Amino acid sequence: MQSMAMFGQIIKKSFHRGLRTLSSVPHPAATERKQASGICFELSDTQKDLQELARKFSREEIVPKAADYDRSMKFPWDIIKKAWELGLTNYHIPQHCGGLDLTCFDECLIAEEIAYGCSAVETALGASSLGQIPLIVAGNKEQQKKFLGRLVEEPLVAAYGVTEPGAGSDVNGVKTRAEKKGDEYIINGQKMWITNGGVASWYFVLARTNPDPKCPAGKAFTGFIVDRDTPGLTPGRKEINMGQRCSDTRGITFEDVRVPKENVLLGEGDGFKIAMAVFDKTRPPVAAGAVGVAQRALDEATKYSLERKTFGIPIAQHQAVSFMLADMAIGIETSRLAWMRAAWETDQGRRNTYYASVAKAQAADVANKCATDAVQIFGGNGFNTEYPVEKLFRDAKIFQIYEGTAQIQRHIISRELLETAKQKA
Ligand SMILES: Cc1cc2nc3c(=O)[nH]c(=O)nc-3n(C[C@H](O)[C@H](O)[C@H](O)COP(=O)(O)OP(=O)(O)OC[C@H]3O[C@@H](n4cnc5c(N)ncnc54)[C@H](O)[C@@H]3O)c2cc1C
Repeated sequence: MQSMAMFGQIIKKSFHRGLRTLSSVPHPAATERKQASGICFELSDTQKDLQELARKFSREEIVPKAADYDRSMKFPWDIIKKAWELGLTNYHIPQHCGGLDLTCFDECLIAEEIAYGCSAVETALGASSLGQIPLIVAGNKEQQKKFLGRLVEEPLVAAYGVTEPGAGSDVNGVKTRAEKKGDEYIINGQKMWITNGGVASWYFVLARTNPDPKCPAGKAFTGFIVDRDTPGLTPGRKEINMGQRCSDTRGITFEDVRVPKENVLLGEGDGFKIAMAVFDKTRPPVAAGAVGVAQRALDEATKYSLERKTFGIPIAQHQAVSFMLADMAIGIETSRLAWMRAAWETDQGRRNTYYASVAKAQAADVANKCATDAVQIFGGNGFNTEYPVEKLFRDAKIFQIYEGTAQIQRHIISRELLETAKQKA
């Protein structure tokens, strides 16, 4: 079983710490003033412990291995297994399936720390979460117990299969089709760019069930859970990507794949809204992962700028260099606040589409700027694989592409703000 005990200890420790601090309870007026502000930038003790656990794990277990995994491009199973043992995976699985039922904010705290060590590892864990969330938001108790329970019992991962060779941003263009025959659906088609494609235990798959091209997206597609070992399902070769190279990205072919009707999420025709709804919960952690990459770039560049000397002084003392560091810090601080707002909104049960896109777009751009500037600060060394920043540079790019490109985020943000403006008019 996944380490509930470990997480339980964290919670217990925080509780006792809370008791210890009771003797220094602040003056009630001060408490009132604090509450009146309505904003608190302090993490809870449990969150601090969770962050510390993820940070320690990332620094000790991921950072030393990241370059090797980048070179070998092998899936980091040993890291994934250890993360699972510590309760740093399967964030949102409900308690009735034996899961931790963490909040989006909690996942973001973990994602930032894991991505600091290696964003490919974070992508593997985040993509598993992306595969699970359709089942969490739309699955019934039996479906949840069967498929989510499996991930709690063993260190396995899930995947989210929506994109196709001809349909990425335009999900309405999905051509994989599912035809109902008796108590089964027969799926045929081709998915592309599926993270964890070759290593997942099961997949969320979006397929067209209404062949009429005029049928609106909101009714034309159905979401299925498909077991990895279903006959006719064949993952393609591992794609060799620019960055995040140990993450497993593949195409998947479906040839007469028979899926029982019990594996349909909600009902026939509900797939599109399920597939889209997950992004409100998954974009904040993607943004947090981008902040992890940006923070790593800043830390590496800061350290190097204090060691490297030109013209008789550390390069940090050249204003052109120190201002680059300052700009990196500005981007990181604001992006972190952006993912916090987006995660907090969804944890309040509120629609956070606007904030999730703001956070994702901003953090992805900042990660790219920070990684580019870190390479610049390293000079020639930055261009070389012996130093850590060229990997950050390659890894950062995908944050502007997956889970909705930089342009699609701006499309969503502008749509949301114009809608609000129209309602106010
Ligand atoms: C490493 C990796 C991992 C991935 N993991 C997964 C996964 O696990 N599951 C999954 O389902 N998918 C996954 N994807 C797919 C990813 O989400 C898509 O690649 C992405 O949504 C973009 O789609 P596309 O590649 O088809 O580009 P396109 O949609 O063809 O876009 C091409 C360009 O046109 C722009 N563009 C498109 N439409 C518009 C518009 N309306 N307005 C303005 N600009 C526009 C885009 O921003 C982009 O710059 C992954 C992709 C990669 C590379």
